[in-house]
Amino acid sequence: MSDYDYDLFTIGAGSGGVRASRVAAAHGAKVAVAEEYRVGGTCVIRGCVPKKLLVYGSHFAEELQDAAHYGWTVAGMSFDWATLRDTVLRDVDRLNAAYTQTLENNGVERFLERATITGPHSVRLASGREITAKVILVAVGAWPVLPEFPGVEHCITSNEVFHLPELPRRVLIQGAGYIAMEFAGIFNALGSQVTVVNRSDQILRGYDESLRDRLLQITMARGIEYKFNCPITEVVRQDDGSFLVTAGRKDPVAVDTVLIATGRKPNTAGLGLENAGIVPGEKGEIPVDEHSRTTCPSIYAVGDVTDRVQLTPVAIREGQAFADTVFGNMPRTVDYTCIPSAVFSQPPLAGVGLTEGQARNRHGNVKVFTSDFRPMKNVFAGRMERGLYKLVVDANTDRVLGVHLIGPEAPEILQAAAIAVKAGLTKVDFDATVALHPSMAEELVLMK
Ligand code: NDP
Repeated sequence: MSDYDYDLFTIGAGSGGVRASRVAAAHGAKVAVAEEYRVGGTCVIRGCVPKKLLVYGSHFAEELQDAAHYGWTVAGMSFDWATLRDTVLRDVDRLNAAYTQTLENNGVERFLERATITGPHSVRLASGREITAKVILVAVGAWPVLPEFPGVEHCITSNEVFHLPELPRRVLIQGAGYIAMEFAGIFNALGSQVTVVNRSDQILRGYDESLRDRLLQITMARGIEYKFNCPITEVVRQDDGSFLVTAGRKDPVAVDTVLIATGRKPNTAGLGLENAGIVPGEKGEIPVDEHSRTTCPSIYAVGDVTDRVQLTPVAIREGQAFADTVFGNMPRTVDYTCIPSAVFSQPPLAGVGLTEGQARNRHGNVKVFTSDFRPMKNVFAGRMERGLYKLVVDANTDRVLGVHLIGPEAPEILQAAAIAVKAGLTKVDFDATVALHPSMAEELVLMK
């Protein structure tokens, strides 16, 4: 008999926590998980999944516009936000049930309430119940950061955006990162007037500069307005329910919804880390070693709460590696190199490996190949928007160090190209591959 109630107690049933819990249970551990909101976590409940469905939903605007060129007449075209919103939320319910079922099938006990750490081997549930565990895994994710300014209480974050009662006629988005650019695209496509304000003069810091420039040009041409170097200083609610937003020294903008997307910080406030001697980092993140172990030997942490790479597939890998290492007798670490990522903006962009700037700094002698092309479907539909593909190659070894794409279906194409970059293939290998014609992806093997 174990001295503890459970072998593993996981706090947080998101992507990392669910994977770790079910794999640990499959390795024979007695596992329980606490979740204060809904099983599935940010990605499934109020992140990647519902966002992608909204992207699909909004993309019909473009498809329907282009349909006439292909001979289709779409009479009486209209859009109903409530229908899209409710269908998306129903899908979230389905996934919430599926994740719950996965835990159930693997014999993981669930406590749908908040848990806090009371010691190296103990947690307390919101109901007051004390539970002991040989190992505790913290997988509580991250939470939107709200800057401080008068009227911030009138603003929403990505937590609320999926529940809007109606489609706002005018939206102002603060931030120019992932969430800002994705929702700017969604609202713009659905017909809202979109203004993006950011504290710096950049969008999507970290992505290759040529792609970011291209996205800026295309989205401006699509009608998104940008105001740079001017974070919000005040939001005032008007008598008619709309808001007057002051950003920097620019004239106030009247809008119906203000969405704040200025990053997410680890969700460690009030978690009781001090009771196990764990000191969070500057942003509130839990410091861990390469096996996701904290400074308290019986407590581990995976996912956004560790602020390593805030991406779902990374949290899943960390959860898997933790469970295999601690309960499966198969020590594993996560390889953080060459992680592909995408922004589901309209058009989307995606990248893997080093950007041109990073490659020049690290390798010096770098060759860059680009294809700046108008996708066939854009030409046919009379759209002037061009795609841009870029290969960053080490001039000494010919190894492809990075692939960066903007254009229709860029994330789908990039995932396959990421295998080649991860495998260390060279430009010669790309060139030796016969093009698949006609496709956009063929540009990857035709760059001279
Ligand atoms: P990001 O870190 O992507 O972007 C934050 C934006 O807010 C930047 O434009 C930044 O400006 C600005 N900003 C940061 N701090 C402040 C501040 N204090 N005041 C004013 N502006 C500020 O964050 P998001 O909220 O968009 O997304 C959070 C995380 O979620 C991402 O890091 C990503 O990992 C994940 N995510 C991933 C997605 C995907 O994979 N497709 C989709 C959505 C989210 P600047 O950089 O100019 O200084």
